[in-house]
Amino acid sequence: MTTDSLPPLEIDTSKAHPARVYDWLLGGKDNYPVDEAVGQRLPAEARDAARQNRQFMHRAAAWLAGQGIDQFLDIGTGIPTQPNLHQIVQEIVPTAKVVYTDNDPIVLRHAEALLISSDEGVTDYIQADVREPESIVRHARRILDFDRPIALSLIALMHFVTDEQDAHGIVRNLIATLPTGSHLVLSHAASDLYPELAAQVTAEYAKGGIQLGFRTRPEVERFFDGLDLVPPGLVTATEWGVSGTDAVPEGSGIYAAVARVP
Ligand code: SAH
Repeated sequence: MTTDSLPPLEIDTSKAHPARVYDWLLGGKDNYPVDEAVGQRLPAEARDAARQNRQFMHRAAAWLAGQGIDQFLDIGTGIPTQPNLHQIVQEIVPTAKVVYTDNDPIVLRHAEALLISSDEGVTDYIQADVREPESIVRHARRILDFDRPIALSLIALMHFVTDEQDAHGIVRNLIATLPTGSHLVLSHAASDLYPELAAQVTAEYAKGGIQLGFRTRPEVERFFDGLDLVPPGLVTATEWGVSGTDAVPEGSGIYAAVARVP
């Protein structure tokens, strides 16, 4: 477990943090009154969206492991919530290696839960910011073999990174480090599916001091430029990897896709 040029472990309970608001939305206990206050003011749909996003992660991770992918770089991991990504993939590929990253010290505090790997596999945790992709990759290289396919998961992360911070360039740079056969798994809150709800959610987070930038479908599509989208393509969190009777009506307001690095 490593921290990268970040200040000592300080949990600031005076202002809301994305990881803790998300934990509250998922019904977790690792949050503070400031986080709950933001969560309480959000439309009720936000809780469904968080759960549906998490379920997309479950299905996408299982699909990738089923394809034989055994290396995962997960950025914006969040506070551990069972099942975590490594539990899903190591159930299918026990030797799978998973490197987790988040920039919130609260995730580091709870990282022990992420580090209980299968005997054959490996998990690691890096405290780092996606806006410094080089440092993440430098650390990840200690655990993962960048000559073999890696799944890069950026799940419900990139709407915290603005265009001014070069969100698309960051993803492009991360993908450039991955070999052929690697995959990008990305989900992202939509600004154009339920515009009124999206505006309300963004405004409430902003009041809590958290900047969110939801994106339109074309803007989310751009994250996949140069990659081969895996069927069913760019859909929503509720629609990806669901078939027949498991299908539920779209209500997540979150775009989701998996794509292969050619
Ligand atoms: N990927 C998880 C958690 C999503 S919540 C899931 O989908 O279930 C978003 C997470 O991104 C939070 O834990 C937050 O702390 C983290 N995050 C936000 N901005 C970040 C940044 N710039 N660098 C790294 N992590 C960030």
